[in-house]
Amino acid sequence: MSGKIKFFFIDCSYAAECCNKSQYEEASLLEKAKLMMHLAICKTCRKISAKNSKLTHLVKQSKIEICPEENKQQWREEIKKEFAEDRSQT
Ligand SMILES: [Zn+2]
Repeated sequence: MSGKIKFFFIDCSYAAECCNKSQYEEASLLEKAKLMMHLAICKTCRKISAKNSKLTHLVKQSKIEICPEENKQQWREEIKKEFAEDRSQT
């Protein structure tokens, strides 16, 4: 294995770290590239990464869904009120 190729080969724990970082947009381009390389050769991490992105998606979705309609309505009223107050002050 040449040095250049070896440079791109990372172990599963490092891949998991990059995977977590990339979910929060914290991974560098190099880390993302290394992660992609690892995902291309490692079935296990590919599964984990797919699961992770699904999970993040679900969390985002559930956050919206757990908010009941009456709460949303209340927020809308409050936002409206605030806008009205802003306007009356100026
Ligand atoms: Zn792996």
